[in-house]
Amino acid sequence: MQPKYKRILLKLSGESLMGNRNYGMDPDIITQYAQEIKAVVDMGVQVAIVIGGGNIYRGMNEAQTGIERAHGDYMGMLATVINGMALQAGLEKAGVFTRLQSAIVMEQIAEPYIRRRAIRHLEKERVVIFGAGTGNPYFTTDTAGSLRAIEINADVILKGTRVDGVYTADPEKDPTATRYKTVSYQECLTNNLRIMDMTAFTLCMENKLPIIVFDMNKPGNLAKVVAGEDVGTLIS
Ligand code: UDP
Repeated sequence: MQPKYKRILLKLSGESLMGNRNYGMDPDIITQYAQEIKAVVDMGVQVAIVIGGGNIYRGMNEAQTGIERAHGDYMGMLATVINGMALQAGLEKAGVFTRLQSAIVMEQIAEPYIRRRAIRHLEKERVVIFGAGTGNPYFTTDTAGSLRAIEINADVILKGTRVDGVYTADPEKDPTATRYKTVSYQECLTNNLRIMDMTAFTLCMENKLPIIVFDMNKPGNLAKVVAGEDVGTLIS
């Protein structure tokens, strides 16, 4: 398959790593994702990844945890590094060269985030995983994904989810809901379609970074998206 995109940023949620578990990660999912990512690396695509941490810790629930928001957010950022390391191990096992860069310095396990270095790794066909989100509390890993995608001049941000795109309504509640093949940023705002949190979405819109929402759990889907096939929803 001929790739439509030369450089992509893949955003995966932490929860996607859980599979059918309700906490942590399923090694089979990591193996599966590693194979999916390897397939697009083999197509000659430069791949950067931002992974969430929601399967381990989410900092935003001060009322439930009793932990101050900013403190909890830092815990959440550490969770993303754990996920990044797991994915890194899975990718290396699949024969893909990787580098993990962290927005919070932890030099024994990850390089510090250095933009130009990340780009150099990509040019050398290494998959770069960005850990620790943006490095700041009060942000999300969707925002980290948008930010890094823009910084590295990615052609597109691919948001891997459990649904196969953006729908006119919630397909689990409304059987008449249909999938958008394409939708504009403005339409998303007008129709209140929640693709990402507003900070992340605005960053994409203002910098004209296209977003594709697609089902990461369907085997072969990532390669199809990268090849420009009609999979998921393109927001531009
Ligand atoms: N987080 C943060 N700043 C960032 C990215 C993440 O404070 O730039 C924290 C925040 O507490 C968040 C947690 O890390 O709840 C895990 O990230 P996220 O919820 O985005 O993960 P996902 O929903 O994708 O699994």
